[in-house]
Amino acid sequence: MTLIEPTDRATADVAPLEFAVTKNLAAKNPAQRAEILVDPGFGTSFTDHMVDICWSARGGWHRPRVQPYGPIALDPAAAVLHYGQEIFEGIKAYRHADGSIHTFRPEHNARRLQRSARRLALPELPVEYFLQSLRELVAVDGDWVPSGADQSLYLRPFMFAKEAFLGVRPAQKVAYYLIASPAGAYFTGGVKPVSIWLSEDYARAGRGGTGAAKTGGNYAASLLPQSEAYEKGCDQVVFLDADGNVEELGGMNVVFVTKDGTLVTPQSESILEGITRDSILQLAQDRGHRVERRAVPLPEWRDGVASGDIVEVFACGTAAVVTPIGVLKAAGFEDVQPTGTLALELRGHLTDIQYGRAEDTHGWLTRLDA
Ligand SMILES: *Cc1c(COP(=O)(O)O)cnc(C)c1O
Repeated sequence: MTLIEPTDRATADVAPLEFAVTKNLAAKNPAQRAEILVDPGFGTSFTDHMVDICWSARGGWHRPRVQPYGPIALDPAAAVLHYGQEIFEGIKAYRHADGSIHTFRPEHNARRLQRSARRLALPELPVEYFLQSLRELVAVDGDWVPSGADQSLYLRPFMFAKEAFLGVRPAQKVAYYLIASPAGAYFTGGVKPVSIWLSEDYARAGRGGTGAAKTGGNYAASLLPQSEAYEKGCDQVVFLDADGNVEELGGMNVVFVTKDGTLVTPQSESILEGITRDSILQLAQDRGHRVERRAVPLPEWRDGVASGDIVEVFACGTAAVVTPIGVLKAAGFEDVQPTGTLALELRGHLTDIQYGRAEDTHGWLTRLDA
């Protein structure tokens, strides 16, 4: 079972790139790094290096580099700044007890980046280059992969239109970058159920739009409704499609557990297909649970909770892994959600695989430091 099919282009064998490596002479020393890794938070500190690969319509992918982490010089007319032609990925590197460094299903992120690229009229980075970029960065910044409980190195690949041109067409000059940020446990003091605000005035994506692509514009569209959620006292926002079906949170997929043990998750062309969700559903199937991917109308959620047919609701994504949903709130109601144990059991199993504490029966791990 996999949602994530390879695209037919750009997966063919390519010759490995030769990265030019420039070491950061101002790299943090071990004591400074250790101080950051005690409590890295999320997305605020960055490692000493970054990877970049250029692309042009004429020359294809070229000039692969590892260089000191730092500001990017952009022409003020760079297309990304005007028309938002940008995509990204999110993936983690985990340190195992023996010191080795692993990542999780990276070829799926590579292929998703290709699908996002197609939708945003950007060039498709070959899967092999994507994997090489992760290895190159870990080769210089591997000491930044923390070893504390639930800690990881969050890897952020991204690609944008850098051509200086204000006409509206796909850019002919593009940059791919990879940066990395040490990440602590997402929830301090254990996993707590989150409260969710139902956005009835705003959508994050529409039919035929970019909802299935991991692109900054979707996040830009989610920020105002997310602020509304905060104002209403909620942690996150959930979006519906134009027909009133449940879609997803701003950056996490949603899964419902019914009383017969079936896991139901929304499926539509405007949802971002999460690798965490796919993996969690696979682990549930391995335990004999049924899985349904289909449209979920909002009333099915509300009525299911009221009748007891739905026994658990959770959200999932790479950053927070799995988060139970405790409350669904909207202008006209506040539904307390039932809580069960399956979400956290599956979370535990998934993180045990990622950190090398449970057998990787599906071959999901890729070692990055060897
Ligand atoms: C990244 C993302 C997810 C989660 O995907 P994972 O592969 O599980 O990290 C879900 N929804 C949106 C909108 C996303 O951008």
